[in-house]
Amino acid sequence: MSTPSIPFIDLQKQREVLGAPLEDAILAAVRAGKYILGPEVKELEAQLAKRSGVKHAITCANGTESLALVLMAKGVKPGDAVFVPSFTFIATAEVVAWLGATPVFVDVTEEDFNIDPNSLKVALSFAKSEGLKPVGIVAVDLFGRPAKYDQINAFAAENDLWVMADAAQSYGGSNKDGSVGSLAETTATSFFPAKPLGCYGDGGAVFTDSDELAQKFQSLRVHGKGTDKYDNVLIGMNSRLDTVQAAVLLQKLSIFDEEIRKRQTAAEYYNAQLSDVVKTPDINPDIQSAWAQYTLCLESKEQREQVMAFCKDKGVPTMIYYPTPLSSQTAYKHYPCAPGGVPVSDRLSDTVMSLPMHPYLETDVQDYIVETLRDALAESASSTSLKAAATAS
Ligand SMILES: *Cc1c(COP(=O)(O)O)cnc(C)c1O
Repeated sequence: MSTPSIPFIDLQKQREVLGAPLEDAILAAVRAGKYILGPEVKELEAQLAKRSGVKHAITCANGTESLALVLMAKGVKPGDAVFVPSFTFIATAEVVAWLGATPVFVDVTEEDFNIDPNSLKVALSFAKSEGLKPVGIVAVDLFGRPAKYDQINAFAAENDLWVMADAAQSYGGSNKDGSVGSLAETTATSFFPAKPLGCYGDGGAVFTDSDELAQKFQSLRVHGKGTDKYDNVLIGMNSRLDTVQAAVLLQKLSIFDEEIRKRQTAAEYYNAQLSDVVKTPDINPDIQSAWAQYTLCLESKEQREQVMAFCKDKGVPTMIYYPTPLSSQTAYKHYPCAPGGVPVSDRLSDTVMSLPMHPYLETDVQDYIVETLRDALAESASSTSLKAAATAS
């Protein structure tokens, strides 16, 4: 029997669902000729702000620069310490280093893969003892699930720190206090194609209720412009969203709520079929994840290798997000880390594995994935017990 071809993320199915209106919208933007900051960009920003429940959404060129725009607006500089989780995508810490500031790595919890408030506390004392000036926290909503903003915001307020949400994976998510975009003073997101809300290239946005910060973002994304672009009041950059990408995102927004519901259904189905044999992600009724990824924790690196090889053989794609904590990366390992290190991040990097996740996962495909994974786990268990028996004899 030939192995099926299962996509890890199915953007072609989504394109078919959106159909001709999507292609028409792209062509209309091309024909209208307002390629930079055209009317679709303004319309998108208005819709994003409204659905997130914040005053301002300002788009930019990509998710990495959305993070940088916030740090620049906050005046982050050498000598400043910014707390970031060690278990995340590299961009979270990269932008801090760009500005010459010091990323301080904090551990995460097994429960939600996000910043551990206890690790944050010890990291803060440590940064101060190293002579750094703690200024802010970048909380990441890894795999789509909002971080513990009630605790993080309270801790930040007590210690005179700002909080930025790195919501590159969580746009479309929410918690009992509101939608992603409104859960921290500033929120940065990405419209990279594989994110829950993705365009057909690079894109990003920042969200805030602050008029002052919004004005800075508008200026910084166009070379620090003042009254016009040849009046430069800040040291800025060029980071704008293309009008064509805004046209794509407006179409995708029309089905986005439905897509988040479908991702939730797919996640619940996986959990129901798998939680008796492997550690499945926590589903909390108070927290809506955007389900950028559906991530399992296996028992060991060896078991993960065996399971992934078995799945690959059967045509089930799996991915590791992320194989190395940032605090162990070559370019970053000299930066400070919470005292005691980041044992949870280290363990997760060795044991996590993500399964195909997108809104168009059919039940029969999911059944095949589940069955394959259950077989893979059973085989790895029997090979482990064989090995144990061999060592014992
Ligand atoms: C994707 C991602 C980014 C960067 O977004 P780009 O649009 O690729 O620059 C930043 N942080 C996290 C957590 C991400 O997943």
